[in-house]
Amino acid sequence: MNNKVGAITFSYSTSMDAKNIAIILEDSSGLVNNEWVLSTFDPDLVSVIKNSSNETMEKNIKNWMDLPKNVNNVLAMIGQTSEIEDLWHKCVGNQVISFLEYLYQKPFDFNNISAYATSAPMCDDNPKENEFFFISKNSYRQTWNTTGINLWRKHSLSVIAHELNHFMFYKYYGDLEKTLSASQFLTLKESLIFFSDPASTGYAIERPLRDFYLSLDRNRHSLDEIIKLAVAKLLNQ
Ligand SMILES: [Zn+2]
Repeated sequence: MNNKVGAITFSYSTSMDAKNIAIILEDSSGLVNNEWVLSTFDPDLVSVIKNSSNETMEKNIKNWMDLPKNVNNVLAMIGQTSEIEDLWHKCVGNQVISFLEYLYQKPFDFNNISAYATSAPMCDDNPKENEFFFISKNSYRQTWNTTGINLWRKHSLSVIAHELNHFMFYKYYGDLEKTLSASQFLTLKESLIFFSDPASTGYAIERPLRDFYLSLDRNRHSLDEIIKLAVAKLLNQ
């Protein structure tokens, strides 16, 4: 169908994993539940994090991950990353990209996107520099429901589709950052996941927009029109 799936390169490194963990733990948007994130980590790593300042956290996490005793974790992450890469290239990549092009009525026109696996249960959600994070099986080891062997794969792939939806939004509607406040822009960006993943619940801040989308006759409005209506709604609040 197309070779756009090849624009995405999948990899794992402890430096990027540590970077993602530091970003989500330092997030100030109010959307991250740090206690829950920490509850999914190895208790040793939690001590490392609790004994770090914001300045030293990323480096300390990476150093901990690079310890010889944690080498099996690193190898597992590398294996899980290539499993997801395989699924993306052989099964779902074309579908996801075709769907996003249909939704936005715009080409998926990206080169050299880097997708990094993370052992955290959440991903930094601000894809601006052609890179994003996705979830690994390791994130499931403690608090996640692991009854279905395919659950982590499904979740990883839905994170990838979620992030690529944001890529399309930034590319074609990034200028709205000038019209909307940072929080309104974030709300709009996240609410659009409703159209690519209707089963997702989203964050509480998106609820009014999601309710609004549900009230619209989807056959009568393009996404472009829907975004214009949503922007008017956000500005009139
Ligand atoms: Zn998001």
